[in-house]
Amino acid sequence: MNRTFISQLGPEVLGKAVMVEGWVHEIKRLKSVDFIMIRDKTGIAQVTVKKDSPLKGFNLESLNRESVLKVKGLVPEKQISRNMIEIAATDIEILNRSAAPLPLPVAENIESDLETRLNNRFLDLRRHENYSIFEVKSSLLWGIRTFLHSQGFIEVNTPKVVASSTEGGADLFKVKYFEMDAYLNQSPQLYKEILISSGFERVFEVGPAFRAEKHNTTHHLNEFTSVDIEMGFSDHEDAMLMLEGAVKSGIENVVKSSTRPSTSSSTSLNVPEIPFPRIEYSRCLELVQAAGEKIEFGSDFSPEQLRIIGDSYPGFYFITKWPSELRPFYTMVDPDDETLSNSFDLQFREREITSGAQRVHDPEMLRNRFLKKGLKPADFDFYLNSFLYGMPPHAGWGLGLERLTMILLDLKNIRETSLFPRDRTRIVP
Ligand code: ATP
Ligand code: MN
Repeated sequence: MNRTFISQLGPEVLGKAVMVEGWVHEIKRLKSVDFIMIRDKTGIAQVTVKKDSPLKGFNLESLNRESVLKVKGLVPEKQISRNMIEIAATDIEILNRSAAPLPLPVAENIESDLETRLNNRFLDLRRHENYSIFEVKSSLLWGIRTFLHSQGFIEVNTPKVVASSTEGGADLFKVKYFEMDAYLNQSPQLYKEILISSGFERVFEVGPAFRAEKHNTTHHLNEFTSVDIEMGFSDHEDAMLMLEGAVKSGIENVVKSSTRPSTSSSTSLNVPEIPFPRIEYSRCLELVQAAGEKIEFGSDFSPEQLRIIGDSYPGFYFITKWPSELRPFYTMVDPDDETLSNSFDLQFREREITSGAQRVHDPEMLRNRFLKKGLKPADFDFYLNSFLYGMPPHAGWGLGLERLTMILLDLKNIRETSLFPRDRTRIVP
């Protein structure tokens, strides 16, 4: 007999024999009947075991919650409950037993602290609301991938162990690489640009990015998933079009493919309208100053100031034309005003989701930008060389997948969106 997923136990199985497999969610013992709630990733069903007709080889006495069962039974024509399908067991096989007590409750509606949850993440993830987060994350990424493929991008994979930092600075994890020193890459920036010089035209990458940032916040991880694109013969405007298209397609796919709406907060999710508003940095500066904040041109916005801007733009919006000095060396300056740059951030309310820009493609300009930012061009020869023999104008962006998942599901802590988060104090499990 084939296995049926619990969510597929609909009207068409009434009066029929079925087989389900899953975990013991809960056990309820009454006088003449026992109930076992069985849970698979799609839902929970109620298995009834009548006491006057014992099942061969099955004894409920010694069974702990979270044990793994294979249940065969009949689905009665007349169902007692509306929201949970009932199966009258004819055979129950214990596939594996769970120890007791559980280090973390799975079935109860008890809120455990995040530390305990993460320490016992394998159990924590059995909760449907947590599985839903990763279902959403996966659908989101699938929608983004589909969109990028439709626009002629190919997916690439670039090295994560590198010899020099992408942007300089101290945010790097050093690793021993045989007799050499190496680092974990902060971003695929340099490699995706090199591929533009290689004539790939349009590339994207989904991969880990490592940041040795010491601050422990609710929206930073030390290892996160970066969705990056780079496109040749293009500028920042082209990159923004791709970004809003990708975000929209991702959310559309989430809305379309949510399999368990009851536990997923994504049901309240709306597909955003594009184009997203484009607000210049200078306009944001005025907004923030009008609210009584002290800030000068050339400064980055504080969290409080971003909240002020976010209050005026309640959904997705771009902040464009950032001061050149706030952006990395590879960012193209605005040809009309060299204090500004052809750059943008995608925001959702007060949260940054993506940074992007048109890039410098002139090797001389790039060399000067290195020097201006205090970086040694010689450390970047492998990158600079690719600009010497025909580098097209190009643009791109990097989007934090956990950030986007977090804001879409309105989660308070980014750790919820990482299966096994890496933060300042955690590398296990
Ligand atoms: P922030 O100012 O929020 O720390 P950033 O400007 O340093 O971010 P970028 O280098 O622009 O980050 O990275 C591109 C995107 O990657 C960000 O917009 C964000 O969505 C995501 N991101 C960056 N750092 C982290 C991190 N430590 N944890 C999770 N996501 C991150
Ligand atoms: Mn950024």
